[in-house]
Amino acid sequence: MNGQPSTKQTSRRRKTVLFCHGCEYQGPPDGPWVVRSQPDCDVLLCPRCNATVTVRERFDDEPG
Ligand SMILES: [Zn+2]
Repeated sequence: MNGQPSTKQTSRRRKTVLFCHGCEYQGPPDGPWVVRSQPDCDVLLCPRCNATVTVRERFDDEPG
């Protein structure tokens, strides 16, 4: 067992908006972005130009 604190959420803003640097498309993190599930993270792609908007690290909250 590892005794590491899993409190990695420090930024708790009211509304986050993601911007695409490719076509200036913008939307909420849970918007119409194309999510590419990677083994340890989620890559959000722009639904317009398919550019990488941001990479979200997955949280290890498996119930097992
Ligand atoms: Zn775009």
